[in-house]
Amino acid sequence: MKIIGTRCNWVDCASKSAFIIQGVPYCPSHYFSAFEKHFLEEYKRWDGETKPPEEFLKIFSRYVSLIYGEGAIPGALSRARIRDRAYNIRKTEGGLTFCIVRHLYAWTDYKWTQYVEQFFKFSIDEKKLELLGEDPDDEVNKKAHEIADALCDLTGHPAIVLKHSKKHGEMFVIYPRNVPEVISKTTGKPIANRVKRLKAKIVILMEAYSLMSRVDYGKMLAYQYHSDYFS
Ligand SMILES: [Zn+2]
Repeated sequence: MKIIGTRCNWVDCASKSAFIIQGVPYCPSHYFSAFEKHFLEEYKRWDGETKPPEEFLKIFSRYVSLIYGEGAIPGALSRARIRDRAYNIRKTEGGLTFCIVRHLYAWTDYKWTQYVEQFFKFSIDEKKLELLGEDPDDEVNKKAHEIADALCDLTGHPAIVLKHSKKHGEMFVIYPRNVPEVISKTTGKPIANRVKRLKAKIVILMEAYSLMSRVDYGKMLAYQYHSDYFS
């Protein structure tokens, strides 16, 4: 099927096409609008409750790079970085938020000890991506590091409980509510948020630095060594 060189599919446009979006040809002057439409449809399709499909990040990162131009994306982000490294993607009222981890390559005691977690917000109406902030170097983050370190080093921590399940055998289960700093001071939803954030941070740290693997244990966060680790 010959597509390049055919007519743009935009209403009333007679220009020659140069771009394809999902098999449909568009001319250079309608490419952005057509892609934007494609992004908005995918955004609408995403329920916002579950993680967006991998394809969504491809479309979103491409859309952002079309808005700003590669090399001019805020926060020194690139299309590839958004596509491959964005996590904690949440649908918001008028757009979405996501996180990216930047490593600062400080290799100490056989661990990457420095990194920065950045929070970004994208507003659809304004077509604007902004850096909301960096790693809040707060108690929750400190505790996440402490727990991940304790998991890696097997030194024990009030938030880590050794359990045995029929399905998985011995595993380390994380109990964020065993951490006084996480549950203190305020009540209600902020605690749930801190618990979530602590768990999310532990997941990141463990994925980045640990040889342990995550165990599917319902809503609980659990880890164990690969079965062939000691063999
Ligand atoms: Zn056109």
